[in-house]
Amino acid sequence: MDLKQFVTIVEDWPKEGVRFKDITTLMDNGEAYSYATDQIVEYAKEKQIDLVVGPEARGFIIGCPVAYALKVGFAPVRKEGKLPRETVKVDYGLEYGKDVLTIHKDAIKPGQRVLITDDLLATGGTIEATIKLVEELGGIVAGCAFLIELSYLDGRKKLNGYDMLRLMEY
Ligand code: IMP
Repeated sequence: MDLKQFVTIVEDWPKEGVRFKDITTLMDNGEAYSYATDQIVEYAKEKQIDLVVGPEARGFIIGCPVAYALKVGFAPVRKEGKLPRETVKVDYGLEYGKDVLTIHKDAIKPGQRVLITDDLLATGGTIEATIKLVEELGGIVAGCAFLIELSYLDGRKKLNGYDMLRLMEY
């Protein structure tokens, strides 16, 4: 299936010069969403993962159906102040600014094989920060899966040494 036909390009959003890839038009097509999910599930099986971890909010949309299909858990990575119990945190730079990401301290058991999911790899700041959180808790990053890689932003270099799957490239 050609998934790109379901992605809407929004010019000059959230600021001038950005060509935003809107995946909501992929998610609201049942066949496209399940096809994309199935690809990631197959990848996750190969990587023998024990847990899915995804950054808010679109990492949840990609990761939760994968976790459900594999009957493994899902641990959310959230912006600071959103998780109610003890967390570890990391500062990160993203395409449009700076922020802090957190995860519950007991979300990952040491040695668990983790799949990290997000909708899109841009500069790689979000995934780099998420990898740090997973490893700080003793998890093994078995793979990373994205719907989209913006290869012109070279985020892949931040994934140096980590395996990754992406279903579309721009
Ligand atoms: P990075 O940290 O620069 O790799 O940016 C990736 C994060 O920004 C992901 O969590 C995406 O959800 C979001 N993002 C950046 N650009 C886009 C886009 O064009 N479409 C959808 N999300 C984007």
